[in-house]
Amino acid sequence: MRWAMALLFTCLFAVFSILLLIELRRGPRLVGHTPHCRACGYMLLGNKSGRCPECGADLTPGNIVIGQRQSRRALIGCTLASIACLVFFGQRVARQIEWYHYRPGSWVIADAGSADASLADRAWAELNRRRGLGKLSDAAESSLTEFALATHAKPDGAGGPIEKDLIKYLFARYSSDKLSPAQVDRLYTQEATPILHVRPRIVAGGPIAHRYRVGNGGAVAGFGAFGIRQ
Ligand SMILES: [Zn+2]
Repeated sequence: MRWAMALLFTCLFAVFSILLLIELRRGPRLVGHTPHCRACGYMLLGNKSGRCPECGADLTPGNIVIGQRQSRRALIGCTLASIACLVFFGQRVARQIEWYHYRPGSWVIADAGSADASLADRAWAELNRRRGLGKLSDAAESSLTEFALATHAKPDGAGGPIEKDLIKYLFARYSSDKLSPAQVDRLYTQEATPILHVRPRIVAGGPIAHRYRVGNGGAVAGFGAFGIRQ
């Protein structure tokens, strides 16, 4: 069945169910013109005792109703059937809706950090979809950037299933000047950490031999020697 048809039937049965529930809430209708006991519904035609023979209630004018209560079985049956149809068609409509599109941004970002590759991929696709539609807020982009920075800080291959996408995203944000000064600092520090190694013992008066490294565990990047100031 097509989604639009299921939606139409869902709406129709929703309206129908509401009307039936309102009718049920109103209480039973009275038909005919014979007097009945309000408490138990006993027919009081010809009763002159002033007391209901069925339940013993005092038959004041307030305790007597005119007309017989209609059976409500048909109404209850129709209401239940209508609600059953509403659930049946409603489920079909709900199954066709892509609920992930409506997931809060912070939750989707959290999903992007999942170790489950299919969930992380799904979250990443959803974030890109929202960005394409202009629906990804600056706050969401900022927390995604923080997340990408945290991923960047990890050793290669330890950043989860969408590590490469996140790094690419991070540098795209950097290139388009979207990082805050603090984020730029953090990126520089993570990308190229200078580590200075100095020879612990040197000849008195000689130069201080040293070497330095750049990057996270990168190769030796240079050698040199400082002069001694005395
Ligand atoms: Zn009665």
